[in-house]
Amino acid sequence: MLHIPLVLAAGLGEMSRIGELLLNPFVGPRFKSVVLTTDMPLTPDVKIDFGLQDFCPKCTKCARECPCAAIPLGDKIMFNGYETWNPDVEKCTKYRPGNLKGSACGRCMKTGPYNIEGVMVERLFLWSAIKLPFTRRFIAKLDDPVGNGSINPTKKWWWDLECKDGRTMHPIGTNARTLDLNGGRVAQTQKVALYEPDMLPPGDNQFVPVKLDRKEAIRHGENAETPAEAQARIGR
Ligand code: SF4
Ligand code: SF4
Repeated sequence: MLHIPLVLAAGLGEMSRIGELLLNPFVGPRFKSVVLTTDMPLTPDVKIDFGLQDFCPKCTKCARECPCAAIPLGDKIMFNGYETWNPDVEKCTKYRPGNLKGSACGRCMKTGPYNIEGVMVERLFLWSAIKLPFTRRFIAKLDDPVGNGSINPTKKWWWDLECKDGRTMHPIGTNARTLDLNGGRVAQTQKVALYEPDMLPPGDNQFVPVKLDRKEAIRHGENAETPAEAQARIGR
């Protein structure tokens, strides 16, 4: 989370519903940020606004498609002084290595309209979403009917096999999810935990296991301050 303000300030993207992940208008969520230090004179960049704060509320596809409902369907909240969509990082972190039908995930990156197979690869739609706010809801909803984000067998380069006790065999099941066009059955019942900084292990923790209080974090998530409430508080 620490680096996000820097990446924002560098004009590389906007905060997205996925949460701790910035989205770039041309490569979507598929980029990694790195830091290089230099004393070379540089001209600072500026923050960008391509309408994502208005687009994500009209979309919600990543939240619908997250298999463990870690991405909020609801609105932004205040977290650690920032206005953000708060992902349930605990759910995501547990789901990826714990999925017996194939580890890893990334559906939030693979299924949305800014994905490399999303409608936003069409420059006309991207231009329209940036310049014509009233088209955003339509463009967001268009991603499903044209089949974006669903299983693409032509890209499958691997065999579904697993190795057990030294033997290679067909797996009991593989993680092959198609789009959930019923509005996100898992996400509809989600409870998103919000771990405030003081509820997390300290930064100097030397790999000592720390038990997190999930019930308390869910309570924090339910009672989190909204951006409007924060603005009113600051105004007072
Ligand atoms: S990686 Fe998977 S589990 Fe984690 S937030 Fe994205 S869709 Fe959800
Ligand atoms: S899938 Fe939709 S809601 Fe999620 S980050 Fe992408 S544009 Fe925003």
